[in-house]
Amino acid sequence: MQKLDSTNILDISIQPFVTSVEKVAHVQPGNTIEHALLVLIKSGYTAIPVLDTSFKLHGLISKAQILDSILGLERIEPERLQQITVVDVMTDSIARMKVTDPFEKALSYSINHPFICVEGDENEFLGIITRSRLLAYLNGYFHEHRKKK
Ligand code: AMP
Repeated sequence: MQKLDSTNILDISIQPFVTSVEKVAHVQPGNTIEHALLVLIKSGYTAIPVLDTSFKLHGLISKAQILDSILGLERIEPERLQQITVVDVMTDSIARMKVTDPFEKALSYSINHPFICVEGDENEFLGIITRSRLLAYLNGYFHEHRKKK
């Protein structure tokens, strides 16, 4: 984690905040939503990224989207879990940024998004930045600042 110095906090690199791709739970566009629901339940996350086999980012899928997609007129239709694929349910409207973008951008995205997807120069998926990681850092930063006064 970066040390407190005179650098403007809004301009610091986001690299140290990235949870790397190997540690990110994800599904593929062609998976069934049953598989996605299992991954979401087992991981305990509300939403996870959708990546293809080349680790390119396609969007994200959430428990709420899956439940909504199996909602019939009068009942929940669990049999649809095996018929619908992730690509039919996921959203491609997501918070995404380049690893070279400044901290300021991550902070601003985190107001409305619990996590932000981070990509490299060639749009390769590098990982995610979670809101909790940013808040933990800011908490430490401001406490340190107070001590120094
Ligand atoms: P947190 O701030 O740690 O509660 O994480 C916020 C959200 O980011 C979670 O609800 C998930 O949607 C996502 N997330 C966090 N860590 C991971 C991970 N390792 N893999 C996939 N998604 C994650």
